[in-house]
Order: sequence, then C-alpha cells, then structure tokens
Amino acid sequence: MALPSSARLTIDLNALAHNYAVLRAEADGAEAAPVLKGDGYGLGAAEVGRRLWAEGARRFFVARLSEGEALRAALGPGRPATIHVLDGMPAGTGARMAASGLTAVLTTLPQVEVAASFAAQSGQDLTVGIHVDTGMNRQGLTAADAQALAQSPDRLRGLEVELVMSHLGSATEPGAARNLAQLEAFRPLRALFPQAKASLAASAGVFLGPDYRFDIVRPGVSLYGGGPFERPHPDLKPVAIFEAPILDIRTIAPGETVGYGGGLVMQRPTRVAMVAAGYADGLIRAGKSGGAGWFAGALRRFLIINMDLIAMEIGDAPAAPGQMVELMGPNALIDDLAEASGTVAHECLVRLSERAERVYLGGV
Ligand SMILES: *Cc1c(COP(=O)(O)O)cnc(C)c1O
Repeated sequence: MALPSSARLTIDLNALAHNYAVLRAEADGAEAAPVLKGDGYGLGAAEVGRRLWAEGARRFFVARLSEGEALRAALGPGRPATIHVLDGMPAGTGARMAASGLTAVLTTLPQVEVAASFAAQSGQDLTVGIHVDTGMNRQGLTAADAQALAQSPDRLRGLEVELVMSHLGSATEPGAARNLAQLEAFRPLRALFPQAKASLAASAGVFLGPDYRFDIVRPGVSLYGGGPFERPHPDLKPVAIFEAPILDIRTIAPGETVGYGGGLVMQRPTRVAMVAAGYADGLIRAGKSGGAGWFAGALRRFLIINMDLIAMEIGDAPAAPGQMVELMGPNALIDDLAEASGTVAHECLVRLSERAERVYLGGV
C-alpha cells in the first residue's frame, strides 16, 4: 500500500452523533439545537447538519444569512429544519430570509421594525426570535428595549415571537458570579414573551445545571469535541482528526539553529521529524510553544510551525518518512492544542483549511 503523501482531516460524524447524544442527555429534556455557524465550526455545515438531522435535530443556529441559505440548500426539502440566523434581519434581507425559510433572531429595535414591515408587505405573519442582552454586552436588545417592545404590541404586529434567547459571557467559568447575574436578568425578560420558548445556554451553559437549560440549548463546540469548560471532557469524542505524514527525519547538532531567525539554538543533539503540515492547513503558529503532536505512543513537542512544515522533536523514537503524526485527535487533544495556541477550541476548528484531504466517516 502506498504511504499517504499528504495531510488528512478525518471528520468523524459518528463521534459527532455520540457527542450530540451526550449533550442531549445532559440537557435532560431541553431541546438541543446544534450551532453550525462558521461552516459547522470548519467541519462542513452540510455534512454535519445532515447527520444531526438523522440524529433527531430539528432546529439549528447559524450566524450569517448566507450560512442559513447554504444550510437550507444542503438539508433540502426532505429535512424541513428550523434554521435560526443570529445576525437577525438587517434592512433589506427579508426577501432572502423568506426565500430560504430562515428564522431571524432579531437583535435590535430597528430590526424589529424591518421584520414587522416585511410581514406587513408580504401579508403573512412572520415567525421570529428575539435576542435579549443580559450582560454580555455584545448582541441583543437591552432590557429597556425589550420592555418597551413588550409594552407596545403594535411594533410586533405580524410577528410571532417563537424564541427568546440570550447568551452567557462567562459560562466556561462555572463559579463566575456573572452567570447567576445573567440568569437572574434573563428570567423577567423571557417572561415578557410568555408564548416563546426560552434559550440561554451554549455548550458550557448546558453543564451549569438545570436552571440554565430552559426550553432550548445551543451547543456548538462540544458537539465537535471541545470540552465545555475549555478542558477535555471525558464523555466527548474528537470529531476532527488531523494527521500529517513525516517527510524527513534529521538530527540537529548542538549549537545549530532550527528554522527562521536565530532564536532556536539546540543545546544537545536533537532528533526532529519534519511533518507535512503547517499554518496553511489552519494550525496556529503560536502553538509551537507548548504544542505537541502524537507519534509512536507519546506526545512530542513542536519546535516550529511554519506555513507548510512542523518540526517536532522525537527523541529516539523509531520513525520513517511517510508515517503519520496526529496533530489533532484522540491523543493530541483539541483543548490542549487550543491552550498551547493561546486560543479556544472553536478557533482551532474553524481555521482548519481546505488544503488537507478531507475524509468523512458516517456521512448520510
Ligand atoms: C457560538 C454561539 C453558540 C455556541 O457556542 P459554543 O461555545 O460553541 O457552544 C451559542 N449561542 C450563540 C449566540 C453563539 O454565538
């Protein structure tokens, strides 16, 4: 059999289905509505969405209108999911939203106006969600705006508010006082729209306990294997397995410098594998310090991450060109990679580029 000659990104949709089941069990009766923004966290919203539909998901969240359109097309008429667009309904987008059957999550009073006048023009009631800001200060109606809106039903004429949601700013720190403050702020705001379903929790919020779950939870990163609290979670499986072949093995003499610049001078003879992956594949260059790949039964530290090449110290492990190194997967955990890269698992996933060969397991 020919040795693989290029990097490979395996997207394990069976692991995705497993994680979805874990999240559903944790959500304990709340509807688990997957978040597929950023092209399904870089893993392919079409493939991810179709598999999750097969697992019972009937409601999805995306950020952009264009993401909603693409997901609707990928699901096709046989999978009539509710697709919520978190950007809401900026002026002029009503017709496109309607053409793809997307449900806006309105984020400002001007958007409420846009939606109401679109409903009036089209002569049909429009189902919408409303995003209220409970203290993240990023997106959503202020409490005062939400109260004003609820007190003037005229502004909601033609709109059926089916969802009221907010987003937690510190859920990855379960002990943060901000979580409870946002929960307390959310309760009276959701009560302004008593007929609507309520949603507060993303991945981390699902694990904050029953008070945070309401009717719908919106997991993203944990579906794809990232731990809810930015640390590996034992029940979640990696969905993205990124491997690349060794191109060459070299021994660098003491006093020699590896790679660009003068900073990396070897103190002792150092055996290094040159791995055919780099930041053009979406790995993060900053991850060289503290980052590691899995090879021959151990984690091996990165010395450099260039555009196309990683230098990885391999000690005296037996190694040959063509052997694969796991850069992300069941042993090189995404939460560790994220920490080494100074970022979150979300970013490690969405940066994965199209250069590596992509293989889907468990597609439908
Ligand atoms: C991204 C996002 C989510 C999902 O967050 P994760 O941390 O990936 O689970 C949920 N809700 C909103 C509003 C988001 O922007």
